[in-house]
Amino acid sequence: MAIGTKKGFLIDMDGVIYRGSELIPGADRFIESLLRGRIPFLFLTNNSQRTRRDVAMKLTRMGVPVEPRHIFTCAMATARFLASQKPHGTAFVIGEGGLLNALHENGYAIVDKSPDYVVVGEGRTLSFEMVEQAVQLVVDGAKLIATNLDPNCPTPTGTRPGCGAIVKLIEEATGIRAFSVGKPSPVMMRQARKELGMATSETIMVGDTMETDIVGGVQMGYRTILVLSGGTSPEDLKNYAYQPDLVLDSVADLDEDGGMLHEILPTMNRADDTPHDLREWVKAHA
Ligand SMILES: [Mg+2]
Repeated sequence: MAIGTKKGFLIDMDGVIYRGSELIPGADRFIESLLRGRIPFLFLTNNSQRTRRDVAMKLTRMGVPVEPRHIFTCAMATARFLASQKPHGTAFVIGEGGLLNALHENGYAIVDKSPDYVVVGEGRTLSFEMVEQAVQLVVDGAKLIATNLDPNCPTPTGTRPGCGAIVKLIEEATGIRAFSVGKPSPVMMRQARKELGMATSETIMVGDTMETDIVGGVQMGYRTILVLSGGTSPEDLKNYAYQPDLVLDSVADLDEDGGMLHEILPTMNRADDTPHDLREWVKAHA
């Protein structure tokens, strides 16, 4: 394959592939065409609750047959980041299986005394006692890490508080700001590209949220596609200083094998500082 035609997708899920438990019409055909065309893709989620295996099962049951290797969560990004910062560290965790599992897999021990980090993800088992303990640990010197700062999440019945809302509780009480790893943090956006195996100019971010998916992609120099099947309407776009490369009603508008994209978003036409295969890159630039 010529290097100029290579591309890979980072794809948000909620509002792009499904809404709540409802599949967005045509999303299954889009993923099918990526699988058939052997076009690399990775689902990116700021939900730290589930493991990649759990998420793959949820999608498969909705009619989108993907494997755990197609999923990248903010819990994975957070655990890998912490392991790179402080190998074999310790964490006090507010969160659920996806986050605990990712930390364990990356060599971390979960403790409730003298942790290196207090790590906050979403969960339904939050109690005031846990928040109180987290506050005390941060006051005592543990570093505060957020898996993401999404203020809320859409549910089939309305809105629930997101990880960002829980983090705010601890930030206000301690006067210390959390370091956040999930979208739009370059930590997660870059890790995801590396996992995808693409260069910067070959990476296309597809999402429904300007504040996370699109700004995250723009900051990294990826191509960005905003879909209107989630929380953003065309009128909202005028409120932002950054814009996506392309706006579509939904991923159903992406034609077979992404052929249309090749014309609209040609790759290798911007400076690329991140060749993933040096030999190929040298050949292309010789
Ligand atoms: Mg979304």
